[in-house]
Amino acid sequence: MTREDIIKLPKVELHCHLDGSLSREFVEKRLGRQVGKEELSVSDDCTSLAEYLEKFDLPGQCLRDEEGLEEAGYDVLRSMKQENVIYSEIRFAPPSFRDR
Ligand SMILES: [Zn+2]
Repeated sequence: MTREDIIKLPKVELHCHLDGSLSREFVEKRLGRQVGKEELSVSDDCTSLAEYLEKFDLPGQCLRDEEGLEEAGYDVLRSMKQENVIYSEIRFAPPSFRDR
């Protein structure tokens, strides 16, 4: 089975966080600057939940207004379509996106 075969298989995403599923392109567009991969994801040897959760801060900054939320929804659904996700439960915690 090839990678392409796997991508074509229908999938179900039962636990997905909106802020943790945004594309780097979306975050860059919303922030108006380039974003390094290390700003959005931890290294493979990360063992700290606090460090992991810090990576949600930047995407969260993109979700503080109606336009950001609407575009985020489309961004995530676009990515899911590319992987043939046919059902998804996307979680969203509005209080966590307020200015800090
Ligand atoms: Zn969760």
